[in-house]
Amino acid sequence: MTTDAIRAVLEQLRRNHTTAGGELPGEPEIINRVNNALADRAQPSLKPVINLTGTVLHTNLGRANLPDEAIQAMTAIAGTSNLEYELSSGERGDRDAHVESLLTSLTGAEAATVVNNNAAAVLLALNTLALGREVPVSRGELVEIGGSFRIPDIMHRSGCKLIEIGTTNRTHLKDYATAINENTALLMKVHTNNYSIEGFTQTVNEAEVAELAHKNGLPLVTDLGSGTLIDLTQYGLPAEPTAARMIEAGADLVTFSGDKLLGGPQAGIIVGRKSYVDAIKTNPLNRALRIDKMTIAALVAVLHLYRDPDSLPERLPTLRFLTRTREKIQQSAEQVLPGLSESLQGIANVSIENTMSQIGSGSLPRDLLPSAAIRIEPERGDRTDTRLRNIAEAFRSLEVPIVGRIHDGALLFDLRTLDDPSGITRQLEQLKTELDSIGQ
Ligand SMILES: *Cc1c(COP(=O)(O)O)cnc(C)c1O
Repeated sequence: MTTDAIRAVLEQLRRNHTTAGGELPGEPEIINRVNNALADRAQPSLKPVINLTGTVLHTNLGRANLPDEAIQAMTAIAGTSNLEYELSSGERGDRDAHVESLLTSLTGAEAATVVNNNAAAVLLALNTLALGREVPVSRGELVEIGGSFRIPDIMHRSGCKLIEIGTTNRTHLKDYATAINENTALLMKVHTNNYSIEGFTQTVNEAEVAELAHKNGLPLVTDLGSGTLIDLTQYGLPAEPTAARMIEAGADLVTFSGDKLLGGPQAGIIVGRKSYVDAIKTNPLNRALRIDKMTIAALVAVLHLYRDPDSLPERLPTLRFLTRTREKIQQSAEQVLPGLSESLQGIANVSIENTMSQIGSGSLPRDLLPSAAIRIEPERGDRTDTRLRNIAEAFRSLEVPIVGRIHDGALLFDLRTLDDPSGITRQLEQLKTELDSIGQ
């Protein structure tokens, strides 16, 4: 490791010298650089960061922040546990047993199972119920979620045949009806919450599709995406269909993510009729997609919080962030403003700006929440990208990196997702060093 670090530092010096020329640093400086390189290598590359991007559920930054209860539950279960062991009988148990009753009571479904993420849940549901058979889906619902998750691709990989019905903007019940034949395995609805079609549109709701499916002896599977367990409008947030509403409308299987609006760990939750859930549990693919004990522990802790909806906005970080008012956010901004102005003196102007935050992770980009941000704009009329990028990089080089967004010639830190202003203030000394080292 030491030899590797020395080689890397010398290699970098040679490269810089060849391209830029100039004087080579002396021995003490080289030793210093090797030491720094070694210290860097001893650090894990995965580390906590402060998300001030203005997107509450940021997929690249690990989506939902877990509540303390979930963190404690994971620590407690990290050793040996009764993950698949029935303590009463001393026999083999089922890992779903720890979450199933919580999920059925929160959704009104007969049965539930949990897998690695919602993409896995959709793959597994289709592979179990529709292998080698046809699944009609509206053209208006063939969405790409981001990353590489596209409904047509996942359907293909699950081994079923997608039958596109209707048009991008309009799909009618008769489109579903005429697509049904003896090869049809099920009907599927995808909740398209990351974009919207407006104007001359027509969609068929779950209750109508469910009725048609059942008349033909078929199940209805709904991919709810960022499904939530409770009505978010009670907290003044945009309406999102709940898993319970889908079950009530007649969906036979509903899948959704654990780490989007639900605010828990990465997981794919499948709720619905017992016969279908049982079939999913015995699919050999399930073994490849199953969730880990830490995830189960965290999910159970988060689901427990849902039993008391009144304390939820306080205890569940995702909901705490989403419901934080602009006034409260403005107060945090006022707390960090003086320190930041001082550290960035002569480099950038620091001010507070009203802004709008996004929910993120597939929730409507249109549903924005009024927020406040720290605005850092390079001084001396110098609005070149390089300078701004250097400042942003200095914040990302901190011990706990701070990630914002660049907008309109400035670096913005939306403080909606900041619980503790000291995350910024105690790093100001290091910030100055980082700014010096990049020559700001
Ligand atoms: C986010 C999303 C998925 C994928 O869920 P992951 O938990 O990220 O795997 C699938 N379908 C819809 C509609 C989504 O919004």
